Amino acid sequence: MSVDFLIKRAKEIQVVIDSHALEIEKLDQEIGDGDHIFNIQRGIKLVIELEPIIKDLSMSKALNQISMKVLSGIGGSSGALFGTLFMTMAKSGNLDKAIDYKKGIEMFASGVEAVKQRGKADVGEKTMMDVLIPVADCLKKGIQNNKNPKDLMREAIETAEKGMLSTKNLLATKGRASFLGKRSIGHIDPGARSSQLMIKTVCTSILNS
Ligand code: ADP
Ligand code: MG
Repeated sequence: MSVDFLIKRAKEIQVVIDSHALEIEKLDQEIGDGDHIFNIQRGIKLVIELEPIIKDLSMSKALNQISMKVLSGIGGSSGALFGTLFMTMAKSGNLDKAIDYKKGIEMFASGVEAVKQRGKADVGEKTMMDVLIPVADCLKKGIQNNKNPKDLMREAIETAEKGMLSTKNLLATKGRASFLGKRSIGHIDPGARSSQLMIKTVCTSILNS
């Protein structure tokens, strides 16, 4: 895994998120303030624009640049949460060395753990954590059990989808949607949907590589 891998995935994610923009916008209009799609699209654009600056850097330095851009350039909860994800990934381990598949998973899992601490949300609170935590757990378990990488990617895609769909019937207890109380029930969480789409995109690429 290299900086080139990150940039390529960001470009693929941009296409997928753009093609679901109306759907994600509507989800955040229903239980939030409607800006989630704007925040995510802006974040992706900022990351892609970093290409000339980060392409020859080590993975840790590139991830650090990405985290600072995301933290300073995106509004809403998403900026702080995704900024934390990248910042923690940048710090986890000796990233001047090449990153293999297992290390990539460990980095992602430690990033998700930091996001959980930062947002103080766990599974069942109707946020992006309903996708990120089960996916990180599934990936960690997969590498511990030496699961075939392609099977593990398929499992991660299914886990993300299940987590995203689970948010529909949950009562929001964190984030803006929690202000709605019981009225939050019956809608998929926008952050869960965008996270699920991003995970699906990255895992599909690895699956097809
Ligand atoms: P804001 O809610 O500040 O307008 P966004 O619209 O960009 O920010 O992001 C909303 C998403 O952020 C929600 O759909 C939810 O998934 C996620 N979210 C909100 N609060 C938290 C939290 N404490 N922990 C994890 N995710 C959260
Ligand atoms: Mg919002």
